[in-house]
Amino acid sequence: MSYYAGPVAGLIEELAKLPGVGPKTAQRLAFYILKAPADDAKKLSRAIDEVKDKIRFCEECFNVTDKVKCEFCSDPNRDHAVICVVEEPRDIVALEKTGEFKGRYHVLQGAISPIDGIGPDDIRVKELLKRLQENEVKEVVVATNPNIEGEATAMYLAKLVKPLGIKVTRIASGLPVGGDLEYADEVTLGRALEGRREM
Ligand SMILES: [Zn+2]
Repeated sequence: MSYYAGPVAGLIEELAKLPGVGPKTAQRLAFYILKAPADDAKKLSRAIDEVKDKIRFCEECFNVTDKVKCEFCSDPNRDHAVICVVEEPRDIVALEKTGEFKGRYHVLQGAISPIDGIGPDDIRVKELLKRLQENEVKEVVVATNPNIEGEATAMYLAKLVKPLGIKVTRIASGLPVGGDLEYADEVTLGRALEGRREM
């Protein structure tokens, strides 16, 4: 299918697997890399190697980290009693930018989506429950995305966590419905966090 020499075709094929990169963009990127100074290209491949070698998931909250526990779980100044539940590590970055949240996080690594065959057992729900049982948590802030999957996940978590006598709140107001948390600006997200409602 490709008219390019093996290694070039291979590079295009790998780049095309990245999200949001079609065959045309993959081709453009491949030729950019081909023309770039060898040093720059090596830096890119080294950065990819390094992220795969050194980065793992925090044993407590499943955020990405290069240590056993992430920076938030190992920070004694963060409030143990409040856990903010997000879908992906990138959502933590968005929430941290607001400067409004001083608790800890829990990364589900996905959301419940029956259409895609993703159930509660496929995301880190069990691990959240374990944390709630082992720590004294007063509030769980559900900050899943404001779309169908995120809402379904929020409802499921509320049903599960409320009987434990823990307050469950949902960030809501001002976030565009159907959107992704990471695309919300920090003011909107900060307000959504501040104006969270009990579920
Ligand atoms: Zn952590």
